[in-house]
Amino acid sequence: MKKTILGVLITLMVSCNNNETENVTPENTNVEETNITAGKEAFCGSDILRRKHLAEDPAAMQRMLQIEQQTVSFIEQKKMGKILPDGSVEIPVIFNVLYTKASNNVSDARINSQIDVLNKAFASTHADISKIPAEFQSVNAGDTKIKFRLAGINRKSTKTSRWAPDDKMKKASTGGMDSTNPNQYLNIWVVDYMPYQTGYVLGYATFPEDAGLWNDGVVMMDDYVGEGGPDATHNQGRVTVHEVGHYLNLRHIWGDANCGDDLVGDTPQQITKHSSVPTYPRYETCGGVSRSVMFMNYMDYSDETTLFMFTQQQNNRMQASVSASGPRAGLRVL
Ligand SMILES: [Zn+2]
Repeated sequence: MKKTILGVLITLMVSCNNNETENVTPENTNVEETNITAGKEAFCGSDILRRKHLAEDPAAMQRMLQIEQQTVSFIEQKKMGKILPDGSVEIPVIFNVLYTKASNNVSDARINSQIDVLNKAFASTHADISKIPAEFQSVNAGDTKIKFRLAGINRKSTKTSRWAPDDKMKKASTGGMDSTNPNQYLNIWVVDYMPYQTGYVLGYATFPEDAGLWNDGVVMMDDYVGEGGPDATHNQGRVTVHEVGHYLNLRHIWGDANCGDDLVGDTPQQITKHSSVPTYPRYETCGGVSRSVMFMNYMDYSDETTLFMFTQQQNNRMQASVSASGPRAGLRVL
């Protein structure tokens, strides 16, 4: 999927234009609705909300394009040895829990388990690493050098159990909780339930074009925070890993289009998202080429038991976002 730098940028701009067009047609709104209501495809609202946001806010679109240029430049400089690949960063995380009753006031233990899951996912130190197929082991991200530290838990009792994925939970004036300095902290809001159209989303994240804005961060339904939630197919804290991937500038592995481009060269092109537990190997044909696809990548929609790897080039994009010149450089300060 990797193209020349120019090719990537042209593709990106074309795809952005397509997104703008798609978003103004009611037919495509219905397509999104269909996608998000089909069982486990309710996984994530990040891209749906991003498309709407970028279509409505030209300044955000401009920031996104600049970040893509910086990302390409960072990766090129890293290739040329101008940037040390080490550059560990420890991201301080604030949880903002909006609970209606004891059962959705997620415990400190569950929140700590989420931090542990994030650290193991980004360091490739969990037991499922051994399940990565041999053909993909050479592109496994290994230790991304991105770490997470629990910096605080804020809790607020509320009568609101149903929240639209529209950021109202991120402001005290709309019944939610204000963020803690989003330039320097990853804020994760936790709510009871997030209906969307006729379905729901498990979580959603802002991308780096919104770095430091009041609404910057991740929102999760309480069931999907940490280990041990009630949904047997999604109770290992890996939906949050997926959302933090978006926060650090990763796109869905299928590129949010039929045989789309995720701007990552070492993830095989695939037709669309997966669900449940696909059987390995799974071959899919895009552009006339049949490839074994990486449905076990965190940025797919498979069951959490089957999500267990990032790739090296996904790590390059995440490193670019938290680098000293990146849009999320502020996370390095604390
Ligand atoms: Zn997603």
